[in-house]
Amino acid sequence: MSGLSYLNDTPRRGFDYLIVGAGFAGSVLAERLAAGLGKRVLVIDRRPHIAGNAYDHHDEAGVLVHRYGPHIFHTNSQRIVDYLSRFTQWRPYEHRVLAVVDEQQVPIPINRTTLNALYGLDLQSDEEAERYLASRAEPVDDIRTSEDVVVNQIGRELYEKFFRGYTRKQWGLDPSQLDKSVTSRIPTRTNTDDRYFTDSFQQIPLHGYTRMFERMLDHPNIKVMLNTDYREIRHDIQHDQLIYCGPIDEYFDFCYGKLPYRSLRFEHRSLDQERFQAVGTVNYPDEGVPYTRISEYKHITGQAHPKTSITYEYPSAEGDPYYPIPRPENAALYKRYQQLADATPGVTFLGRLGTYKYYNMDQVVGQALALYQRIEQAQRESQEAPAEAEERLTHLAR
Ligand SMILES: Cc1cc2nc3c(=O)[nH]c(=O)nc-3n(C[C@H](O)[C@H](O)[C@H](O)COP(=O)(O)OP(=O)(O)OC[C@H]3O[C@@H](n4cnc5c(N)ncnc54)[C@H](O)[C@@H]3O)c2cc1C
Repeated sequence: MSGLSYLNDTPRRGFDYLIVGAGFAGSVLAERLAAGLGKRVLVIDRRPHIAGNAYDHHDEAGVLVHRYGPHIFHTNSQRIVDYLSRFTQWRPYEHRVLAVVDEQQVPIPINRTTLNALYGLDLQSDEEAERYLASRAEPVDDIRTSEDVVVNQIGRELYEKFFRGYTRKQWGLDPSQLDKSVTSRIPTRTNTDDRYFTDSFQQIPLHGYTRMFERMLDHPNIKVMLNTDYREIRHDIQHDQLIYCGPIDEYFDFCYGKLPYRSLRFEHRSLDQERFQAVGTVNYPDEGVPYTRISEYKHITGQAHPKTSITYEYPSAEGDPYYPIPRPENAALYKRYQQLADATPGVTFLGRLGTYKYYNMDQVVGQALALYQRIEQAQRESQEAPAEAEERLTHLAR
């Protein structure tokens, strides 16, 4: 890997910051602290690579693939685009997803094309599609669960075709047991827009995510240590401040119990053909099919190659922590850990594992930049009134 400074031995001099996790949260903050404030930063990760879940690499066939499933960058924040553009050029890419339903492949989110294809209709306008969906909707008075959200919006039949099986596979729970926030993210459209996202900026790093992270971490004040768990080195590395982007419950030795996560098993396949499917991702809501979706990377990366590479996603209860399970009792458990974090000086929790919340990549970048601003401000104030600001510096995440 070019440019990065790897550390293989315990350093003699300490660091201003030890950052656990080389994903978006840790790497953005490391870059800012080093380049913006001249801090000496050590970034560690227990995986053998940087970039966290956004890690991409060329597989044996030479196709650029995402090891942890397809990562599509989309945002409405120009500030975040401007920041990341210091480290990468971009390639325009609008993600499209089809769902296999009733032996057809139809657009998801459900739109007018979906309804016409599924029911042999000829809805011509938004108004007609709106009336059609309204005629199927089954109003629910008190919307509390994911099932309520969808049935209320589009009725039970479409709910069962598109959401019930998919959600049961994805979460291992029936939508009636899941918080309404899970499906309130999924829009239904009456037009024919078949893009998965509608954000103003939809582009992916031209040479991949890992290359962008290499450039972000390529700074004389940043050292990187891979294959290193925080537990192995916590007593050996001198540091003033700790930024922890790993699971918050693990940091506290699971003292209140484990925060539940849903995991995924990725099955990567290289195929001796140029194309496998029509779009970047195809969803399989049918409960009889064990995987939830198949993604083909060449759609996303634009790479020309005689072979193609795809990934099947199998949801599972065991494995790396990917999705915090949004249920009230889990939020309450997280609150207890958060209170413990508030009472622990010198450590700040950041990122999706540190704050037990599903964030898109742009949101994590935003979270890291916001934390940096608070650190920078505290530092500025400490130059004016050192004692009070020192106190503030140790409790920045609150
Ligand atoms: C399947 C999947 C698909 C996704 N698709 C998208 C998408 O299309 N668009 C989008 O915007 N977002 C997507 N995301 C979300 C995206 O992955 C996250 O927003 C992003 O990874 C969060 O960055 P992070 O730094 O908080 O966490 P991570 O990327 O998970 O980085 C945390 C790092 O900390 C390390 N770590 C943890 N504990 C320790 C420890 N004790 N010692 C050392 N290292 C440790 C881990 O190894 C990991 O590398 C997807 C997520 C998943 C799971």
